[in-house]
Amino acid sequence: MVNKKLTLLSTLAIASMTMTSLSPSLPLLWQDSQLTAVLAQESEDEIPDYQEDFFQAVNKEYLDSFEMAPDEISVGVNDELDANVEKELKTMLADLDSGKREAKTKEEEQLINYYRLVNDFEGRDKAGAEPLKTYFEEIEGLKDPADLTSKMSHWIESTLPLPFAVYATPGLEDPNTNELMIGSGNLILPDTAYYEEGNADGLALMDVYKESSIKLLEAMGYSHEDAEKHVQNTIDYDKLMASYRTPSEERMNTSDNIFPTSLEDAKKLTDDFGLMDAVTELVGQTPEKINVDDQKFSAGLKDMMSPDHFDQLKSWMLVNLANSATGSLSEELRLIGSEYDMAKSGAEEAKPKDKAAYEDVIYTFSDVVGNAYGEEFFGEEARQDVRDLTNDIIDMYKERLKNNEWLSEGTREKAIEKLDKMGVMVGYGDNYNKNTPDYVIDPEKSLYENVLGMAKVDQINSLKDIGQAVAEDQWEMAPFEVNAYYNPTENLICLPAGILQEPFFSENQSDSQNYGGIGNVIGHELTHAFDTSGAEFDAEGVFTNWWTDEDYKAFEDRTQKMIAQFDGYEIHGGKVDGKQTLNENVADNGGLTVALEALKRKDNPDFKEYFETYAKTWAVKLREEYAKMSLTTDEHGPVEVRVDVPVRNFDEFYEAFGIKEGDPMYMKPEDRIIFW
Ligand SMILES: [Zn+2]
Repeated sequence: MVNKKLTLLSTLAIASMTMTSLSPSLPLLWQDSQLTAVLAQESEDEIPDYQEDFFQAVNKEYLDSFEMAPDEISVGVNDELDANVEKELKTMLADLDSGKREAKTKEEEQLINYYRLVNDFEGRDKAGAEPLKTYFEEIEGLKDPADLTSKMSHWIESTLPLPFAVYATPGLEDPNTNELMIGSGNLILPDTAYYEEGNADGLALMDVYKESSIKLLEAMGYSHEDAEKHVQNTIDYDKLMASYRTPSEERMNTSDNIFPTSLEDAKKLTDDFGLMDAVTELVGQTPEKINVDDQKFSAGLKDMMSPDHFDQLKSWMLVNLANSATGSLSEELRLIGSEYDMAKSGAEEAKPKDKAAYEDVIYTFSDVVGNAYGEEFFGEEARQDVRDLTNDIIDMYKERLKNNEWLSEGTREKAIEKLDKMGVMVGYGDNYNKNTPDYVIDPEKSLYENVLGMAKVDQINSLKDIGQAVAEDQWEMAPFEVNAYYNPTENLICLPAGILQEPFFSENQSDSQNYGGIGNVIGHELTHAFDTSGAEFDAEGVFTNWWTDEDYKAFEDRTQKMIAQFDGYEIHGGKVDGKQTLNENVADNGGLTVALEALKRKDNPDFKEYFETYAKTWAVKLREEYAKMSLTTDEHGPVEVRVDVPVRNFDEFYEAFGIKEGDPMYMKPEDRIIFW
């Protein structure tokens, strides 16, 4: 299933951006006049020169050819590639359903069962909110905090709402063994910054949340009065949670999200509500190694779980349960449940139900669908080609580190060791993820109960994993996704088949194009091993300091220069935060450097083609609301900035496009940096 918990991975791009898709040939069902006007006006604009705005020079015509459908929040290359995948996957799923294609594994049989349940719109409409009834009753039946404490293990096992989560996580000092994580619950607003005094976006979003949640509870059978009371309690409780959350700018690195805690301290924090007893019961023994993801939040749990807030907590549970379930219920409830997400992203309509159903199926069974897709449409030969290309980039990276002039020899060797031991996953998995074989879909039960059943499998297995070896070869991204990641505790990069399409990669593209495309993605992910987060982990994924003080000081000086390149860049009605986007910007800089140098070893490198392909891989246009929100919530900068700023560091770029002093794309040599 899609991992909804805090992820510690460094990705290429924000995940939700890639989960939307748009075929350019889709008819426009409904047009927002304002948006159309903006698009029309922009279409009339001249395409700028390379010297003026490189991103627009390469991508404007392409991006202007799209019209944003009302339910979409982005258009461009990712969406086109998603649409390619969608065409194949829809056929595959329909053929499995009709029997034209035979299920090859028992997991594919479960996939078909799930597909049928999700697409049984009539059955879902008929059931309405009925599948939630027993869970509402359980929450409403809670008498007092002691009652909840006595039911804590049941509550955790059943994945009923709680303001915290418990699950297995690789240890900082021993990344091969799972430890217990006590994680913070999700807040309503997209980021802690939205809770700051006078944040207008936060207030506006909360109004939408309030209104849609009241409507939802009413549609589920609550009186208007009760619905209002529960939702107001929920908002008050959410504010309490937010007050204990460490601001996100202080949680940038992996190690800012894992704090080892003694059993004694964990007990002190949670004994009032019986957490460690419940966990011990579910794990089968008392976990020896315990972590929290936010020390301020875990210190606040006592208060959040206290009798003072018990009524608020109960309401919060009800409203959370209702909101989290809408995607698996009737069409009426799904649409109400979409309203808040639409307010965040700026989408004007909810996704059509067949599209929402399609995405539900492919992301719930992402490894089953993805491995079949990868085998059929990507294949072993292409996989080997990408592995070869990856090794070429790794070789060049090692070469550069060997010749690095600002690190001492010992640190250089440690860095090279990280590359020697780098894990590489390409295309798709050969096996399913570890929980998938345990998913059993019961066609006699409702869709929601089946979803909950899978969530229970995930929860129970996760707790059983504590104290056990961390499973290898787990795909933490769907193989069909147009994205990639680096995992610091496994020292591993993953390149899903979804991103191994043109313009990123094709056997028909030139070397200059493939290195400008996937070569950069590979270099980007490898560089995450050497950004401020990756720098804290060694070749084995152990959290340790492998730097001399002097070398780390030199590293930090370079990050300052990097921050300065981006900080304050004005775009989308806001400004880029140089610190928030630092690691991604370092990764882009490293990717461009190493892929360019590797390309130079090939016959007839074409730098123009190289930089143009790089720009094309970022040809994406977001809705303004979504783009503005991402300035606060996303560690990745806006795509326009990720193209126009990093390319200015390279002499080859200036030569290829004739950029001179005085041109808007020009950057003074003393401000440029080749980070790695
Ligand atoms: Zn990244």
